[in-house]
Amino acid sequence: MSEAATLEKPSPQQAEHVDVLIVGAGISGVGGAYHLKVQCPGTSFAVLEAAETFGGTWWTHKYPGIRSDSDLHTFGYRFKPWTGTPIATADEIRKYMGDVIEENGLDRHIRYRHTIHSARWSGAENRWTIEATRGDTGEAVTITAGFLWMCQGYYRHNHGYMPDWAGKERFRGALVHTETWPEDLDYAGKRVVVIGSGASAATIVPAMAGKAAHVTMLQRSPTYFRTGRNAIELAEELRKLQVDETWIHEIVRRKILLEQTVFTERCFAEPEKVKAEMLANLRSILGPDYDLDTHFTPSYRPWRQRIAFVPDADLFQAVARGDASVVTDEIEHFDETGIRLKSGQHLEADIVVAATGFHLNVLGDIAFEIDGRPLAFHETVTYRGMMFTGIPNLAWVFGYFRASWTLRADLVGDFVCRLLKHMEAKGARRVEVALRPEDRDMPILPWIDPENFNPGYLMRGMHLLPKRGDKPEWQHTQDYWTEKDAFAAIDLDDAAFVYR
Ligand SMILES: Cc1cc2nc3c(=O)[nH]c(=O)nc-3n(C[C@H](O)[C@H](O)[C@H](O)COP(=O)(O)OP(=O)(O)OC[C@H]3O[C@@H](n4cnc5c(N)ncnc54)[C@H](O)[C@@H]3O)c2cc1C
Repeated sequence: MSEAATLEKPSPQQAEHVDVLIVGAGISGVGGAYHLKVQCPGTSFAVLEAAETFGGTWWTHKYPGIRSDSDLHTFGYRFKPWTGTPIATADEIRKYMGDVIEENGLDRHIRYRHTIHSARWSGAENRWTIEATRGDTGEAVTITAGFLWMCQGYYRHNHGYMPDWAGKERFRGALVHTETWPEDLDYAGKRVVVIGSGASAATIVPAMAGKAAHVTMLQRSPTYFRTGRNAIELAEELRKLQVDETWIHEIVRRKILLEQTVFTERCFAEPEKVKAEMLANLRSILGPDYDLDTHFTPSYRPWRQRIAFVPDADLFQAVARGDASVVTDEIEHFDETGIRLKSGQHLEADIVVAATGFHLNVLGDIAFEIDGRPLAFHETVTYRGMMFTGIPNLAWVFGYFRASWTLRADLVGDFVCRLLKHMEAKGARRVEVALRPEDRDMPILPWIDPENFNPGYLMRGMHLLPKRGDKPEWQHTQDYWTEKDAFAAIDLDDAAFVYR
């Protein structure tokens, strides 16, 4: 394997070849590139990214107030200290990613405006042939790769999910989606309705409140939120003591992870108590007369959907000030001036913002073929949520729902690098996961248990996703605390790995 291969110009007959091709330059793809560079220094690789720049989620989303809902000590990489406030804006996250790219010379590996549309595996050649189209020139590009590292995220980047509401074409105001935000949209003095109750809605409502005439958050059902100061006291204290930022990052990560684990366990062990605590916090901001039961008391157990963190309680402060309000109801239909609700109430609006989520996109909308046959991804069984039976030389980064995505991106990074080195040591050109004799009677289940976690985009797309088994190695456990040790201990010579 030689890094120089990345730079070689292919002859017209011969496509360029890299050892590893990374799909996407979001937080996972940039992290993957870093891990390859540092852990597999002889490996040639390229990153193909459809957008004009890096960032993924943090480049796509441009709505007012766009910020993380997890802390950046754990959403940031393990290897690069985060020195800002724990909840960060998209620009701050992109700046951090840009520093990682620059400090590690990753830019020369990344090719922007390259949309991959097909990936074909040839067992005879033990390589992938990837076809992409350049967004700037329209030129077709073909690259071959020994290994595909899928860092394409989990949702379609060019249009968000918007339900087919009756009458929406009649609405005379602006109807926009948070994923495709028109940057010139002027909302000063306008009546805004934001449809949704997730992290995006919780961000955009306080960001628009105050400047807009009024912002109404229209939700079908309530969501859990946690609030707190956008600061970590321990980090502040350690900084005062002039402790090195590398240490602060690691110490604060450990503290946050421990606290999150304890919180998650409490959500399962004593859900009513946790619920009461979260509601008491909101009560203290919204006052004794506010209808918390209707607007902020979900019917489901805490943690069944991701719990968004609202820094400095800004959403609730906006409601308490009267700049924003919450309506819990269902849409009957749109009309020329707004939205008629099932209760009969009418919401007048100049702008309606759909913060209604995503279209799940399982493999980057890439048409996959394995030895001439279209891939039926939903028929595969996942090995720890990152490899799939019947798909050779491919790994996918699918992060955590309840903890920061990047924690898993780093774990998968370590695993892929270890696997590549193991293949090299064995002289293998192909690795595939396969159920072992002892897995034969294992129940084969949907990707995720809806009783455990059930956000809309996953429920809508579950039929597209691979299957899981009931053993930890055949599922994405969603449990960082155990996976961090389990991944490092994976025996690459276990019968689940088949090399050729
Ligand atoms: C608004 C918002 C806020 C979020 N906040 C958090 C948070 O606080 N904490 C958290 O843990 N998670 C959060 N998430 C989830 C978040 O998406 C992930 O945590 C993380 O950013 C995903 O990174 P990624 O690199 O895997 O994928 P993405 O960020 O989705 O990046 C994938 C990249 O792959 C590219 N790509 C896709 N298909 C192709 C193709 N065929 N060819 C070429 N390129 C392709 C895309 O253009 C994109 O740049 C949030 C999601 C959203 C939408």
